[in-house]
Amino acid sequence: MTNSAVVNGKPVDDELFARLDPPALAGSGCADCDVVVFPAAARCPGCAGENVARQALPTRGTVWTWTTQSFAPKPPYEKPASGFEPFVVGYIDLGSVLVESRIVGAVAIGDQVELRLIPVNDTEFTFAFERVAP
Ligand SMILES: [Zn+2]
Repeated sequence: MTNSAVVNGKPVDDELFARLDPPALAGSGCADCDVVVFPAAARCPGCAGENVARQALPTRGTVWTWTTQSFAPKPPYEKPASGFEPFVVGYIDLGSVLVESRIVGAVAIGDQVELRLIPVNDTEFTFAFERVAP
């Protein structure tokens, strides 16, 4: 795991990232009402307008809440060959938007976290957040 693009393969979805090295998630912001969403959308969910632009989201935030995913999610989730292992998921407060994300390691609500890239399988990667010193 790394905060540079030193992971194998390609993003699980090209639309997720504004850039890869260093990585930043791509959201969209509305010029009319300032609503920011992730993933990026063609229309604003706040005002239904189309005056939205893709933007790189902050790479650090705080844990808003979290839980442990203790059963395998529905497809397209791919169970690892080694079998399902519970993992931590949560919402990360990036200031302008809450992002649902995998979380690497243990966290508490309010912890500072930073964006990371993690492998999905041998050919694809996705994002997660990991606790960092404040
Ligand atoms: Zn709007």
